[in-house]
Amino acid sequence: MAEDLGPRAMFVAGGTDLFPKLKRRQFEVEALIGLESLSSEVRNGGRETVVGAGLTLAGAANDRHLRQSFPGYSQAAGLVSSPPLRNAGTIGGNLCVDTRCNYYDMTFEWRKAAGFCIKKDGDICLVAPSSSRCWAVSSSDTAPMAIALGAVVTLAGPDGERELPVAGLYRDDGIDYLAKQPFEVVTDLRLPSDKSTRTAYVKLRRRGSIDFPIAGAAVAMRLDGDAVASCRIVLSAVASHPLEVPDAAEFMVGKSVDEESVRAAAEIAAKPAKPLDNADLSHFWRKKMVRLVVEQALQAASDQTGGLDG
Ligand SMILES: Cc1cc2nc3c(=O)[nH]c(=O)nc-3n(C[C@H](O)[C@H](O)[C@H](O)COP(=O)(O)OP(=O)(O)OC[C@H]3O[C@@H](n4cnc5c(N)ncnc54)[C@H](O)[C@@H]3O)c2cc1C
Ligand code: SF4
Repeated sequence: MAEDLGPRAMFVAGGTDLFPKLKRRQFEVEALIGLESLSSEVRNGGRETVVGAGLTLAGAANDRHLRQSFPGYSQAAGLVSSPPLRNAGTIGGNLCVDTRCNYYDMTFEWRKAAGFCIKKDGDICLVAPSSSRCWAVSSSDTAPMAIALGAVVTLAGPDGERELPVAGLYRDDGIDYLAKQPFEVVTDLRLPSDKSTRTAYVKLRRRGSIDFPIAGAAVAMRLDGDAVASCRIVLSAVASHPLEVPDAAEFMVGKSVDEESVRAAAEIAAKPAKPLDNADLSHFWRKKMVRLVVEQALQAASDQTGGLDG
């Protein structure tokens, strides 16, 4: 159906992001293709855990195996929006969720009065008028954690199935932000199981009860004694895609996790983060806060002793 209908149709899973956007006429489609049949199972296959894309965020936040083996992932899912939305929103929808911008996530009437922008109906970017691209912000909480974990998605399309690392699922473009084909469905998320990996996700937002992230850091690390053996750090809400910061992660390798190393790594991590004035609160302040969320996430991952239940 998706292949036949092309841009006239969209997939809908929980509808928590899509339905408000349809009401605001950010998307105008003739048909919705329901994804209710997607699996919501969590299967622990030893070397990897396979999570059905239909699992709700509440399910991911509360699943015993995910909480124990991938606490940072469960934390990220449990920090998305609010409890009613987590009961309906899915982990597949969270990976594919639209990018956000203060000039775009508005009613049709507001956008008409202010002037439309390139992402929908217009021809200039209202945040960066001299730019030819859209800078809408990647605002998924679970995508950075999935990337830090080295997770892979299964995509199903008319020609069958293929696997893609979550790190390869995103483009640095506020409009064309997904690297998959529009008619491909994310059917599951595969998390590599490694008991020695410690994970943490720290999110900054105005209202802890519902808001999208305005900065966030996902960390997955392994320790060898006191020293960091491997590390991945991925930032949320500071670019049009989840922003991996390999220089900061490499800096941590071989070092013990202490105040000094964490502060220096956070300084390195904040450099490529370039928040613009198109999300909540001041972008200068958000840039400063990137250091803080990275420090907290590194410390939390290193302090972790055995999952949220441990
Ligand atoms: C008030 C409010 C607060 C929110 N706060 C947050 C937040 O803090 N953090 C956050 O990350 N999100 C937040 N969201 C967005 C949303 O609730 C979540 O991202 C949720 O996980 C989306 O999942 P869904 O199943 O409802 O997706 P849907 O709304 O059904 O779909 C979202 C998009 O993904 C596509 N899609 C869905 N599933 C698939 C699939 N399996 N394969 C391919 N494409 C698919 C749809 O076509 C659509 O483009 C918020 C939303 C609202 C309204
Ligand atoms: S970044 Fe610019 S083009 Fe993109 S949604 Fe915002 S105003 Fe529109």
